[in-house]
Amino acid sequence: MTPASASLQLISEPLLQEKALTLYLKREDLLHPYISGNKWRKLKYNLAEAKNQGKDTLLTFGGAYSNHIAAVSATGQEFNFKTIGFIRGEPHVPLNSTLQFAQNCGMQLHYLDRTTYRQKQEPDFQEQLISKYPHAYLLPEGGTNVLAVKGCTEIIHDINIPVDYICCAAGTGGTLAGIIAGLQGKAQVLGFSALKGGKFLEADIAALVKEYNGQEYDNWQLQTDYHFGGYAKVKPELIAFMQAFKENHHIPLETIYTGKMMYGIYDLIRQDFFKAGNTIIAIHTGGLQGLAGFAERFGLAL
Ligand SMILES: *Cc1c(COP(=O)(O)O)cnc(C)c1O
Repeated sequence: MTPASASLQLISEPLLQEKALTLYLKREDLLHPYISGNKWRKLKYNLAEAKNQGKDTLLTFGGAYSNHIAAVSATGQEFNFKTIGFIRGEPHVPLNSTLQFAQNCGMQLHYLDRTTYRQKQEPDFQEQLISKYPHAYLLPEGGTNVLAVKGCTEIIHDINIPVDYICCAAGTGGTLAGIIAGLQGKAQVLGFSALKGGKFLEADIAALVKEYNGQEYDNWQLQTDYHFGGYAKVKPELIAFMQAFKENHHIPLETIYTGKMMYGIYDLIRQDFFKAGNTIIAIHTGGLQGLAGFAERFGLAL
């Protein structure tokens, strides 16, 4: 077996057999113990660019449970960048596990009230940051920019089997844009929106792809019915699905992205969305760092 196929894990399940489908999970969650899955892909070329520009600090933004914040802090520690995180909302003591991890990695944490946080991409605010932190390389919330898209094109590079569908969860859509751009029209791409308001996200994704390589593709679509009430919202049937999936396949999913995507894939399978004989690869984008804290807050075994 080549290392490439080693990252594909075959899922065996009576439902798949019954529908004559082949389903793999691509274990991007195993890329790195702390710099999780797609967040590493998104950071890779940004780090090179930060070095190129002679910056010694990574400065970014995120919610209090953000996988991106955790990934940037661990990246700084591993690749010798100072890190600064602007966190949405009020500080809480003690820190939750994500922010404690970030601080342990050396990240300097600052808090922005929700109104200020919404203005973080505005030119005035960005200019203030740049003059206050002249040695900082600014990464947007979620890490999505054109260099992130470039990194995410590599998610599919080592797939060396014929595939009909690639499935991936979407927050900002940067990861999905990279997959679409990387495939260059080959195979179908199905995105699963983790938040409400899929129409905006669809436009964002198309714009990111176009910014990256000037192309437009029509071999992809966004599923917008599996957000379970919105970003970071859960319902009992999602939790039950994730628990069963872990028990059957020994693969942990998390509640915000990968759990919703897999729930959606199984639902589409039941509805005969896919055709007999299809091969589906679902991307496990990682994000498991937040799971322990989540399970603890809600008293769940995940
Ligand atoms: C951040 C994240 C995503 C969403 O990535 P986008 O590029 O923002 O769409 C998906 N899955 C996991 C586990 C994540 O942490």
